[in-house]
Amino acid sequence: MSQSLILVINCGSSSLKFGLFPVGAEEPTLSGLAECLGDADSRVIFKADGKKETLAIAGGAHDQALEAVIEHIRARGELDSVLAIGHRVVHGGEHFHASALITPEVEAAIEACAALAPLHNPAHLLGIRVSRACLPSLPQVAVFDTAFHQTMPRAAYLYALPMKLYRDHGVRRYGAHGTSHRFVAAAAVAELGLDAANHGIVIAHLGNGASAAAIKNGESVDTTMGMTPLEGLVMGTRSGDVDPGSLVYIGDKLGLDLAGIDKLLNKESGLLGLSELSNDCRTLEEAAAEGHEGAMVALDVFAHRLARHIGGLATSLDRLDAVVFTGGIGENSNKLRAMTLAKLATFGIEVDADANDRCIRGKAGVISRGNGPKAMVINTNEEFMIACDTALLAGITA
Ligand code: ADP
Repeated sequence: MSQSLILVINCGSSSLKFGLFPVGAEEPTLSGLAECLGDADSRVIFKADGKKETLAIAGGAHDQALEAVIEHIRARGELDSVLAIGHRVVHGGEHFHASALITPEVEAAIEACAALAPLHNPAHLLGIRVSRACLPSLPQVAVFDTAFHQTMPRAAYLYALPMKLYRDHGVRRYGAHGTSHRFVAAAAVAELGLDAANHGIVIAHLGNGASAAAIKNGESVDTTMGMTPLEGLVMGTRSGDVDPGSLVYIGDKLGLDLAGIDKLLNKESGLLGLSELSNDCRTLEEAAAEGHEGAMVALDVFAHRLARHIGGLATSLDRLDAVVFTGGIGENSNKLRAMTLAKLATFGIEVDADANDRCIRGKAGVISRGNGPKAMVINTNEEFMIACDTALLAGITA
């Protein structure tokens, strides 16, 4: 038989991303996206061998999209080589400390966590069920964004709210982007030759959503994201930290109810709200270079908050070996990296401006010099992590 393959699925409410990974390979041989699911113009886009192909599935929902993906894999003569399916799941609550082979009990637990991620977990469950209906004989694995952060100590994960809220309703900090932080932490240890049992790293995962995490000896010990994907850093359209007291004032002034406040914080804030121009970092950098005041303010606040959080996270570590940047902004914005690192000089980090400027569009590596903590860029690969966990839990070797 040809190479063993793992199908990785990230199922959203109206989209389904997929990747087909040979076991052990970091890049998929086939990937793609089904979008606008359920709409008249729903379609599946396949990418392989540097080419793109679009298939219209008018009105098609998740089941038709997955059937189209499976048909495509069959036409490539690879369906028999697909041995397991791995699913990204946003929220695993306190139940999941690691990835899990999907059983009826695991599915019920993912369902129970849906209250904590009402937009995401139901879509993931749909993906799991549709996958089972299409390929019933294959093992399926769930890989949770929250699982890596379950090692956070109580002092880091509790809010100073009445304990009853934690006990009765699970109100606590869970974190996010755990699969990315786990991949990047392991890559940093390997690339810098750090001691697996004695290291301290702060990782800044900066995409449309963003979070930073403190990693001590391979474990997450604190992170900026909280119970929902709103806490912490400035994001594309999300505010990150705000004084909770200000929300009462804003609601009163603008006549907003809780749903209105939620929309304001999640959709109208962050880089977009500050710049009054765009949520997109690249657009803001271009505008800032041409003197757009709002864009400059947005980037300044982003860098200030990020540096402040990185400094705060370092207090959870015994030593600071490295600050690592990843995600679309972290991997590409030499400007924001330079602005952030300039504020971290107290930690002894010395930026290598040339190396920083070189690390864009896929090029990664160390961007500091001297004997202080390293600053570096690592390209994250969450799908590869999902494929690895899936192969491991399903007992599949290359
Ligand atoms: P998501 O969280 O949706 O996966 P990404 O990790 O793809 O997001 O990150 C998207 C962000 O990365 C956007 O703000 C985008 O502008 C930014 N980005 C991508 N390329 C560049 C670049 N060359 N320079 C600056 N920002 C960039």
